[in-house]
Amino acid sequence: MSNALELICPDCQAAAPPDSQGGVRCAGCGAVLAEPFTFCPQCGRINNAGASVCAQCAEELKVTCPGCGRVNWSGAERCGGCGRELDALAHAFRPISASVEIRRQELIRNVSSFREKEEKESQARLDTLREADRRRAQRSTELAERARLSERRIIVGAVVVIAVFLVFIIAAMAILF
Ligand SMILES: [Zn+2]
Ligand SMILES: [Zn+2]
Ligand SMILES: [Zn+2]
Repeated sequence: MSNALELICPDCQAAAPPDSQGGVRCAGCGAVLAEPFTFCPQCGRINNAGASVCAQCAEELKVTCPGCGRVNWSGAERCGGCGRELDALAHAFRPISASVEIRRQELIRNVSSFREKEEKESQARLDTLREADRRRAQRSTELAERARLSERRIIVGAVVVIAVFLVFIIAAMAILF
């Protein structure tokens, strides 16, 4: 394989280069690290199965053999059908074509607008939480104030009752003695 990119197996730390189909399997422990056609020969990203271009660098992941029409992984040196040389290196290092560059820009825009939206949403969530906190604090102050008022009313009531009672006793004593 002319390609220098390879993965490191997370289980056994062995270096695992991609196979001719763009899949990666660890030679040490046999773990599948990338499904066929998902490994980007340009940047090494593992893409979702079925992707036609790399989500990181927009490199085409598949190339059609000009000889037999077979669809090969773009990092393959030779066609798996007819054995024709696919010139993987020239493919990997060819200048970024206009359409690919546009797609790359689109990807970057999508990612940044997604992030912006995420940030706005999390800010809104934070504001809502803060508002709820503020309301809760206000409500507990109101409740405390109300409790204080009713306490004061009870004390005033008790004082009045005691005063009336004392006056009654004094009056009774005055009448008796
Ligand atoms: Zn392994
Ligand atoms: Zn890539
Ligand atoms: Zn071919």
